[in-house]
Amino acid sequence: MADGLAALTLTPVVPGEKVKLGAKAASVAGPVDKLALEAATDGLLTRLSELQQAFHADGRQALLLVLQGRDASGKDGVIKTVYGAFNPTGVQVAAFGPPTSLEQRHDFLWRVHQVVPPRGMVGVFNRSHYEDVLAVRVRGLAPESVWRPRYAHINDFERMLTDSGVIIRKCMLHVSRDEQHGRLKARLEDATKNWKFRLEDLEDRARWDAYTDAYREMLEQCSTPWAPWFVVPANDKAVRNYLIARLLVDTLEEAAPAFPLMDDAVRAAAKGFA
Ligand code: ATP
Repeated sequence: MADGLAALTLTPVVPGEKVKLGAKAASVAGPVDKLALEAATDGLLTRLSELQQAFHADGRQALLLVLQGRDASGKDGVIKTVYGAFNPTGVQVAAFGPPTSLEQRHDFLWRVHQVVPPRGMVGVFNRSHYEDVLAVRVRGLAPESVWRPRYAHINDFERMLTDSGVIIRKCMLHVSRDEQHGRLKARLEDATKNWKFRLEDLEDRARWDAYTDAYREMLEQCSTPWAPWFVVPANDKAVRNYLIARLLVDTLEEAAPAFPLMDDAVRAAAKGFA
């Protein structure tokens, strides 16, 4: 019997094509064999760890994964499971909350630029500069005349980063309204998860449709050849992790990192070392 894994793949958002963000798109279409999925994910995580060693040693490029998604969409879970495969020495994680008063006095990319991973590192953003066209837009924190030009600013910024050796991949973790309801409810009912529940989660849930519009426009405006967006069906955590691990393996393999050759002078000096 087919395990359903062949159909599990992410394709970049094509600008100009309408992005599906309904409940259906939060799950994969066909059946997937759970055991096969688990085994395949383990294999991908092992491969990620191998690739990272060469990527770190090579040091000519950086990798940045941008994670966006509604509350409880699984951003932390991806970081824990997928980035957990890497050697922490080579990993840089940055999370973005509401800007501080100092950050508010700078341009919106100021705080972001400072935490872009340097070459040799694999980085991940838990939320990102995209909040400045999402939360800011939906919660009315700035007028359209301020947030709309940001699509172009972001595309230029990401272009500059890629020209400097940063490989960018962006994933929107897409959960359905029902799935989010279940996860927020668990945060209310489980004492070990209470701390994650915030009033803002309820406010943002009430703005579901406005966020859908904002996400859709963000995906359409900012999926570029140099920094593509992927919509990840994220209702099923195992599927979500597999898809992102797969994307990162493909990305790192394409980057073709190589272990640097030993310098001739070092080799000569080490001759006779035993
Ligand atoms: P979870 O998804 O698990 O609920 P979270 O990502 O919401 O966790 P929190 O620290 O609880 O993590 O929330 C971060 C909050 O900061 C979000 O509500 C987000 O919208 C907000 N935020 C981030 N960047 C900005 C920004 N530039 N302007 C306004 N709000 C922002």
